[in-house]
Amino acid sequence: AAPVAFMGGMSSAAKLNVIIKDGGALEVLARVRTAAFDKTGTLTQGRPDVVEIRPITRSTDEILRLAAAAEQYSVHVFAGPIVAHAVEKQLQLPQVTAAEEFATNGVQATLADDSVVPVGKPAFIEEVAGAFARTPLAAGETAVYVSVDSDFAGVIVVSDPLRSHASETIARLRETGVEQIVMVTGDVAPTAESIAADAGITTVHAETTPQSKVDIVVALRPRPVMMVGDGINDAPVLAAADVGVAIAGRGATAASESASAVITSDDVSRVADVVQVSHMTVKIAL
Ligand code: ADP
Ligand code: MG
Repeated sequence: AAPVAFMGGMSSAAKLNVIIKDGGALEVLARVRTAAFDKTGTLTQGRPDVVEIRPITRSTDEILRLAAAAEQYSVHVFAGPIVAHAVEKQLQLPQVTAAEEFATNGVQATLADDSVVPVGKPAFIEEVAGAFARTPLAAGETAVYVSVDSDFAGVIVVSDPLRSHASETIARLRETGVEQIVMVTGDVAPTAESIAADAGITTVHAETTPQSKVDIVVALRPRPVMMVGDGINDAPVLAAADVGVAIAGRGATAASESASAVITSDDVSRVADVVQVSHMTVKIAL
């Protein structure tokens, strides 16, 4: 293949705010017929509003106060909005004496009265608190689970809608020959399935871990697989995929370091654009 064409492709991509780290990625992208998408922050906006607090063993204000105390120490995309909501409601947060973030699973705070507050995924709450932490969710609802010691305190329901160009991007990818598109997400199945349906994706792998995301993508081979993700939990799968595309609209992350293409604007439709650029580039190069 002619290197000049690949340089042209890389510069066309750069004009679209897509940094291609290596021209070879364009050649792989042009052959991609299978793609896997992360959900939170990739297909969804990842800037949620708190819409409702559902109490189980604590009051709504208490749940928010506890969750916000722990979320001050988390870098998860949902952490900031939860802290901001508690601040808006002028709640006084309990004093935190120790905090630990369990990347991708949640965050756990120890309070001055020695109670332990894990916040995050239900599987995480179940593991660290031994509390059953499941609750029915309506279509489109996304939840953050809060517990105190071994009590399942309640859930914070947030709205994390699809990005405005998500379903159009999936449709455009199908038009350009990406036949098989799956979702791999750390979120629970009801939330994942509802978002996937809105995006036009029918195959969903929910409650995945960074490692099981890798296993799922590897199992989609032998044809080259494109992975699209945004979070620290996507770093291993972005590196393992034949071509990893990171959405880094809000700044470089662990995901961008592991990807071969980085979208530097906060726009998922660049994924379809860069696939089109790869097709044009490879036609010229052959
Ligand atoms: P994806 O793999 O789709 O990007 P995540 O693995 O981030 O998604 O899963 C999203 C879910 O993670 C949220 O719905 C929430 O329940 C949970 N979660 C994990 N850590 C946190 C945290 N620190 N704060 C709030 N939610 C968290
Ligand atoms: Mg994500």
